[in-house]
Amino acid sequence: MSVTTLTGVPSIWTAADAADQRRPRSQQTQIGASDTVCERRCAYKYHGHPPTDHVVSPAAILGTYTHAGLTAAAKQEFNWLVERKVADAQVRGSIDIVQLDAATARKLPSRLRPLIPAEAVTVEDIKTKSTWLWDNVLRYGATDAELRQVHLYADLLRAAGFEDRKGQQVIARLGPVPVERIRLRFINRDSGAEFVQEIDYDPARAAEARWWLDRVAETACPDEARRDFNGPGLDAVCDFCPFATACWGIPAPGRPVQTTLIRSDADVEKALADYVTAQKQWSEADRIKKLVRKMVDASPEARYGPNVLKWGGENPVEEPDLAKMIELFDIAELVVPLKADQDQMVKLLKDAGLPVPMRPSRRKTARTIRIVPYRE
Ligand code: SF4
Repeated sequence: MSVTTLTGVPSIWTAADAADQRRPRSQQTQIGASDTVCERRCAYKYHGHPPTDHVVSPAAILGTYTHAGLTAAAKQEFNWLVERKVADAQVRGSIDIVQLDAATARKLPSRLRPLIPAEAVTVEDIKTKSTWLWDNVLRYGATDAELRQVHLYADLLRAAGFEDRKGQQVIARLGPVPVERIRLRFINRDSGAEFVQEIDYDPARAAEARWWLDRVAETACPDEARRDFNGPGLDAVCDFCPFATACWGIPAPGRPVQTTLIRSDADVEKALADYVTAQKQWSEADRIKKLVRKMVDASPEARYGPNVLKWGGENPVEEPDLAKMIELFDIAELVVPLKADQDQMVKLLKDAGLPVPMRPSRRKTARTIRIVPYRE
């Protein structure tokens, strides 16, 4: 991210990034459960490859701040166990929240018991999301990577309990903790909206997560691991990946990094075949969308089964007010073009740093359809 500020005023993100880099989580060299998003990226970490890229991610830092605030509040108000460490030889992690059940809580001093015990020991992970991903969260819930991460936490707790380390020796003495529930709590970074997904702990999914880590450990070098994303400029996770240059190499000047995937005409042939297949699927999907759009044109906004139909757009459109622009040119002592040319006058006003006077027009923006998942 490039950060611009008034001359001489440092960007607050410079401080935030420096502080973030010093966090123990940023300096950790062992694989963490939260590293299991991309196999290639996890392999870089597993093989001790030095980071090749340093990109400031304000969204990630804001996510960290939100976590810290919410977990502190959960501890203070609900007395949940928060930010607790788990580890074994393969992976380690910091669990956002553990809500104990009554039977397990009774083994701890009262100061560590939840105000309201859970029905079953529950491991919770908090995820912050932007608005543009929110519909996906409501419709599809946690991603495979998010479920993998939280099942690893639960698996570590079930197998070994809390890590025996300073600050949590008392809960470490519990030994293995019988986790039965998984909770993903999604927070919309822009609106604060909250969506909670709870599922039973799934031993098969935990085994799959362990298998995923085994695959990484079997690689002789990071290049043997699969790239799970399409690279900088296409997937945000790559835009902020500390191994992006190691992963994609350096392309020819002015070319996207994905050009490094083409090494022969056979690679081009394969890429074009993929393009043609995708184009066919896309055009078939687009035909369905266009048909549905026309079919529901007269349908009112309402819930229809699992989806909610919403209509947007049709907002008044403003246009430059020619008469007021001429007045403003006069006041600002600008030369009005000989032939009143609206576009040129708008440009001249903008170049002079003056506001463009607007007036309502008779036009409206296009009507837009929005189909969002229904949630109670
Ligand atoms: S750049 Fe993207 S694909 Fe490569 S390691 Fe990082 S996250 Fe994975």
